[in-house]
Amino acid sequence: MAWATDSTPISKRKQFRRLRDRFLFTYIGVIAATMGIFAIVTYEVVAIHRNRQLDDQLRQLSASALRLFPILNYEYGEILAESRGEVDEDDREEDPHDPIITFDAAGNPQALKLEDLIEAEGELDTSMLALGDSINELPQGIEWYRANRALIVKEGNKFPEAALPEQLPRQGKIIKRHDFHSLSLPIYDEAQQTNVGYVRVTASTAQVEAELIQLRWGLLLGALGASGLTVITGIWLTRASLSPVVQSFEQLRQFTADASHELRNPLTAIQASVAVMQNHPERIDERDEAKLEAIATASSQMRELVEDLLLLARMDHHAPNRSMWRDIPLDELLEDLVDLVRDRADQAKVQLTESFKSLTVQGDADQLKRLFLNLISNAVQYTPAGGSVAVDLEVMTNTAVVQVKDTGIGIAPEHLTKVFERFWRADPARQADAGGTGLGLAISLAIAQRHGGKITVTSEVGTGSCFEVCLPLG
Ligand code: ADP
Repeated sequence: MAWATDSTPISKRKQFRRLRDRFLFTYIGVIAATMGIFAIVTYEVVAIHRNRQLDDQLRQLSASALRLFPILNYEYGEILAESRGEVDEDDREEDPHDPIITFDAAGNPQALKLEDLIEAEGELDTSMLALGDSINELPQGIEWYRANRALIVKEGNKFPEAALPEQLPRQGKIIKRHDFHSLSLPIYDEAQQTNVGYVRVTASTAQVEAELIQLRWGLLLGALGASGLTVITGIWLTRASLSPVVQSFEQLRQFTADASHELRNPLTAIQASVAVMQNHPERIDERDEAKLEAIATASSQMRELVEDLLLLARMDHHAPNRSMWRDIPLDELLEDLVDLVRDRADQAKVQLTESFKSLTVQGDADQLKRLFLNLISNAVQYTPAGGSVAVDLEVMTNTAVVQVKDTGIGIAPEHLTKVFERFWRADPARQADAGGTGLGLAISLAIAQRHGGKITVTSEVGTGSCFEVCLPLG
């Protein structure tokens, strides 16, 4: 299976900007997540606490309501009996009041308001109510029921619309809706342990909701303010923490450029001296000939390396000087390069073929030569005898596409993204004697990017590789 990788152009400046953005977004993300969790936990804790307070309020109210139940139940029973005409004449004289209970069409008695019941039963001890006047002012309500679940009296101004819950445990049941909480309690006759009625107290959640809405706004505004501050400090922090890295990188680049530049002259001197000595073999001891040859080879490799480093450092440092660019007939340039490599290909028994469309690109001729020479030389170098290398040039949607395709050793998928890294070589030990510095593809990539293009590589181990260079036309 063939694997592909793409050399999308990214300048160092862009890489640093990306790194800075990544730091910044990570920092903002972590702070935002922390603030979000803090806000949610705070909100939930306050909401749970306020809802509990509301439920405690309900229990207090239900305790007062329970104390009142026996009297209300008794008095209501009296009035009900009277309203139905079940009272003796004698009793009527003792306890004369108008029947105030009405009955619905089915004959069921209607509930009373507490004030009607108090008015009807003048002796009712209202101090036992202990409900305070607030019951009518606050959004609360109490309902007292008989054992048959018939409503006796209700007081207050907040009631659930639903009937009493069916199954009620002794400790009561709290029902929570978004606009109210209600507590329903069964009432037992302590002596006989029988259920004699029910009381239901209800409280509106409006107050709690209003407080929670305020809290939500507070947290939201706080979070927005803190986020603004986080972004400002984040930008400052990432700039401050990255600036030494950028500075070191610049220094390293400058050092590479300076060192390569400074090494050129002594290397030239060594090469020239060795050449002079080699031109006079009669003056050289026979035993030193091999050593001299080794010095010549090493100094020429070093020179190559230094030139490559200098070229990369210059390309990193300076933007392309487009005013120096010329119209370059790419087909002719490739033709020359193929001719240059043909001898080496023949010696290596590698068949070299070409197919060029005639076209022109704008650019630096020397750099473009270097770009394609690297690719064609590599293709020949990494193709065993009997294999072939094809160099093609064609046009695709305003782009010149050069393909250097070989039937060589191929590149492993895990190495494909590394081939453009500086000094990276697949197997340095095996390739040490094959020459090369591991800078060739890094230089090719830098040149392609400087010309607004890119390089894509597809490869399969044992089958071959294809390097494709796309350069914009016009
Ligand atoms: P070198 O000077 O070693 O050729 P390059 O940067 O040109 O450096 O290539 C880097 C590495 O990529 C090479 O060492 C080799 O392992 C691999 N490579 C490059 N071109 C090919 C190819 N056509 N086929 C297989 N491997 C290749």
